[in-house]
Amino acid sequence: MASAITIPYPVNDRQDRPRFLVSDLCIFLESYLSAEQIREVYRAYLFSAEAHEGQRRKSGEPYIFHPVAVARILGEMRMDYKCLMAAVLHDVIEDTGVAKEALAREFDEEIAELVDGVSKLTQMGVKNHAEAQAANMRKMLLAMTKDIRVILIKLADRLHNMRTLGALDPAKTRRIAKETLEIYAPIANRLGINNICLELEELSFSHYWPWRYRCLKNAVGRVRGARKELVSNVEGAIQGRMRQEGLEGRVIGRQKHLYGIYRKMVQKKRSFSEVVDVYAFRIIVDRLDTCYRVLGTIHNLFKPLPGRFKDYIAIPKVNGYQSLHTLLVGPNGVRIEIQIRTGDMHRMAEAGIAAHWIYKSAVGQVGGTHTRATGWLQNLLEMQKGSGDSIEFLENVKIDLFPDEVYVFTPKGHILVLPQGASVVDFAYAIHSGVGNACVAARVDRRLTPLRTRLHSGQTVEIITASGARPKPSWLNFVVTGKARANVRSYLKQLQAQEAEDLGRRMLDQELLAAGRAWEQVGPERLRGFLAEVGVATVEDLWRQIGFGNRLPRLVARRLVASDPRELRETAVGGRPVGPLAIKGSEGMVVGFGKCCRPIPGDAIVGIFSPGRGIVVHRQGCRNLGDFQRLGQNWLEVEWDPDAQVDLPTEIRVDVGNRRGVLATVAATIAETGSNIENVRSHERDDLSSTINFLVIVHGRRHLAEIMRRLRAVPAVMRIVRASR
Ligand code: MN
Repeated sequence: MASAITIPYPVNDRQDRPRFLVSDLCIFLESYLSAEQIREVYRAYLFSAEAHEGQRRKSGEPYIFHPVAVARILGEMRMDYKCLMAAVLHDVIEDTGVAKEALAREFDEEIAELVDGVSKLTQMGVKNHAEAQAANMRKMLLAMTKDIRVILIKLADRLHNMRTLGALDPAKTRRIAKETLEIYAPIANRLGINNICLELEELSFSHYWPWRYRCLKNAVGRVRGARKELVSNVEGAIQGRMRQEGLEGRVIGRQKHLYGIYRKMVQKKRSFSEVVDVYAFRIIVDRLDTCYRVLGTIHNLFKPLPGRFKDYIAIPKVNGYQSLHTLLVGPNGVRIEIQIRTGDMHRMAEAGIAAHWIYKSAVGQVGGTHTRATGWLQNLLEMQKGSGDSIEFLENVKIDLFPDEVYVFTPKGHILVLPQGASVVDFAYAIHSGVGNACVAARVDRRLTPLRTRLHSGQTVEIITASGARPKPSWLNFVVTGKARANVRSYLKQLQAQEAEDLGRRMLDQELLAAGRAWEQVGPERLRGFLAEVGVATVEDLWRQIGFGNRLPRLVARRLVASDPRELRETAVGGRPVGPLAIKGSEGMVVGFGKCCRPIPGDAIVGIFSPGRGIVVHRQGCRNLGDFQRLGQNWLEVEWDPDAQVDLPTEIRVDVGNRRGVLATVAATIAETGSNIENVRSHERDDLSSTINFLVIVHGRRHLAEIMRRLRAVPAVMRIVRASR
């Protein structure tokens, strides 16, 4: 049975200022890596040392000391050798301009990815962030990380920087300390890496509030000195009783870290003596059931305080922490805090996700994207199952590690949280619906980007708006947020209403003419009477209803005219036939074009008029028309307006001989005529030839004829037809 008083979190007074040489690192690594793996780490060191040649840290020492020290920290966590190589190289992209590709060539893709990941996090850290955004910032860092080792390297990097922070100016020091306290220590805590979390907190505290830190340290020192004897008596008593009962275990006196004391005083509003006059011991035993037996023994020795016992073995903390906690009343009424746990639980409590690494890499598994994190979570999950308690304690960790959200910056450095798959348009609407309605493009990480682009965590997004820009129906295909969807929909509805009104008006005019009357000839009284009769408030509403296809223009026209029986008779007998409705192509959403036959200006066309959808234009002879007839849809005579200026897609089928580059030749020929190719489908017919279907955008039949004429001149083209169903 061993006993030791340890001071686990030395700060500032550390005499053996870590000047790890690579030889020290290699010797240390012999404790768990093979000679070959250590050689690889050394090779990474040589590369890094050369890249950092001539660079010095603020303290004056050669820069390479820092990455070697970072690797040492990860070595103490027993990380795999690739992780150590990446640690040694972690600043070369950021600080020496070595390209990621160069790392991939020199080492491998895995190392390059790791170093690149760390560099991205480093660039993130430069950004200013509001305090309230710290939680989002933490999530963003985790969300950006495909390999959890990137986070571990970053934590080790930050730890070493914090240990050697003294060399910087006070303002910068404070900023870094604050960032560490708000971002990095909580991440370490979330991942269960307790020892790094505590050291980061302690170091940050000492730099952010140096005076409070010193006062607290002195006060704690005084109290501890005065109670030295009492502590060793309690320790002796516990050890003696355990021995009597035949229980194996180590009793360790435990000093609370100063930041923990400080936080308790501030958050729980406790006085210094309330917080400090508590003596803490940790008992580490071999087996789980021993924990409970030790607990019973100790409750026999000192009186437990009611309501202060916590069983984190049965119900682990969110990050997987397991222990029994109890609070006892010792000699002279002092409070004694006891933690009881097994060696395994202790390792887990100290190293968290990294502890899981050790077990896994012992089996020789290679870590890929998040597999480690998954394994760790799995571990936690099983622990949870074993405890027979099904509270959803893992949810938070899981959400942090595998978020279904993306975190992106506004140009001013605020973080916006959007659902996974969110596009630039979603971002624009998240800022303001006015911005969303007027957006035309965006700069993502300063690069010009189309609106449908999906965003990734860590990107900075700047929206470009234009006055007069309007939402497009196609946005509905890619927006994911409710806000964007609702805004686009309501805008389109409004727009559609206007278009329907215009169309309805034209259709009614047309029918009135067919009945031998101009609109002006319908008396206002007759119109009012009709509106009242059918229960429509205004004539605009009537036009809209016609435009949307909810009311037949012919019937409306008849009844407007029918007020005068003479007129009706005249219409019935001698109403002159009126020309078909002219289609301009610019009617908007109330006039659509059949995807079956793809009509273009110049084609002979018919309109199918259906309630709520307006007119859909088809080519005469389109095979679908038969179906519409059976369904009793309303046919409408339509023709192209001679001035129709609209670009529409239509499909051509080209049979080509299988030669290299034939698709490119055909596509280039089409492009030469000023047409865009919207879609290409091709399938091989036999060994010698293929059929390619092009969806080309044309102004009309003449344009299409030009395309086909030019294609016939291409030697590889064997046959070309306009496709139709
Ligand atoms: Mn660094």
